[in-house]
Amino acid sequence: LEPQPWMRAPQTMKLMEVLGDARFVGGVVRNALLGRPVTDIDIATPLPPDKVKALLEVAGIKAVPTGIDHGTITAVVDGKPFEVTTLRRDVATDGRHAIVAFTTDWAEDARRRDFTMNALYADIDGAITDVVGGIADIEAGRVRFVGDPITRIREDYLRILRFFRFHAWYGRTELDAEALYACEKEKSGLVRLSGERIAKEMLKLFEAESPVTVLMSMGVIGVLEEVVPGAAEILPLRRLAAMDAELGTAPDGVLRLAALLPAGRAVLTAQLIAARWKLSNVDRDRLVAAASAPRDIALYADPRLARRLLYRMGPEGFRDALLLAIVSETRDEWRRIYDGVRSLTAPRFPISGKDVVARGIRIGPLIGQILHTLETWWVENDFPQDALLIQRLDETVKQVQE
Ligand code: ATP
Ligand code: MG
Repeated sequence: LEPQPWMRAPQTMKLMEVLGDARFVGGVVRNALLGRPVTDIDIATPLPPDKVKALLEVAGIKAVPTGIDHGTITAVVDGKPFEVTTLRRDVATDGRHAIVAFTTDWAEDARRRDFTMNALYADIDGAITDVVGGIADIEAGRVRFVGDPITRIREDYLRILRFFRFHAWYGRTELDAEALYACEKEKSGLVRLSGERIAKEMLKLFEAESPVTVLMSMGVIGVLEEVVPGAAEILPLRRLAAMDAELGTAPDGVLRLAALLPAGRAVLTAQLIAARWKLSNVDRDRLVAAASAPRDIALYADPRLARRLLYRMGPEGFRDALLLAIVSETRDEWRRIYDGVRSLTAPRFPISGKDVVARGIRIGPLIGQILHTLETWWVENDFPQDALLIQRLDETVKQVQE
């Protein structure tokens, strides 16, 4: 591996020198080999965690014991975090968590990793340790379990979802038939996983440039149904991915999930998934709002109606709803509709409680009622000008006072 810019960064150089015996591992090596961007840097070392901690402290590097039970210490070098993990081997499992023992053997550590492409190590000069044939698999675009798929899945059922996730991102071959069979056979184990772990993998899967073929395979073997109940129709998501390609927008996991929800039961399923996956309130609200939005494209193609929706949903919710409506239909003219309403701006209701009070209404629930009545009238009449609205306000107040 050619030395990468992030390997030459002063923080990286400093940390690697302090640790002495340490190598980069996992996603960072895989992505460097693939020429893909690298986000977080994971480091493996045969040194036991207390030794790592001591070395870091002597060098004045902040050591945070983020996962000390499984041997992970986060080293913060001049503000940049690195995960440093002691080599491990798996000794037992309950299908959700591996119980680990430390080792000094790189090959043992490689064998407990999930896929060959994730089991590569590189030292600071770029020399690679490849115990399981990961380089050849990366070159072929093949996602292959380290060892026997069924055995490895029974140790941790999340590996089923990770298999599809990595294939969606890096696969260029057909899905490995033996692995696919193992996923089908063991899929009932998915219910035992925590929702957070499922959410993390699935959202990453959705954020692949085109997760479509992978999702279809997951559908065929019934894995998709285990995590997204009722998902059957993949066409809307396929169109969404095509739109991202055409518009140059980044894939949006929550929106793509919304596109996969079964028509007719979208809202219920959204609520179910949000609870099961323990989505954040922000993601939950967004998913449920997207699931509840009308899908009839005619509502968006008409600027008058579209403006009302925009006002009610806010710009972000409106964009979600618009995209979902577009992909729910087969029309080819989506670009015209999209461009037509994307330039709309949401009007702002110009009246507040103060204006009502200024006309002699006493502070109390009546103010809210008047505002609400006025706002409804204003929206239904397509946002008439302020002067008309003020006139209407005066009339309403007068009526109330009589
Ligand atoms: P990404 O770029 O998406 O972060 P990654 O390869 O870094 O990809 P992580 O989930 O961050 O993936 O995990 C880091 C490494 O830890 C993996 O490359 C893999 O070697 C190992 N690993 C993570 N989860 C598992 C698991 N469930 N079973 C076995 N090995 C795992
Ligand atoms: Mg990672």
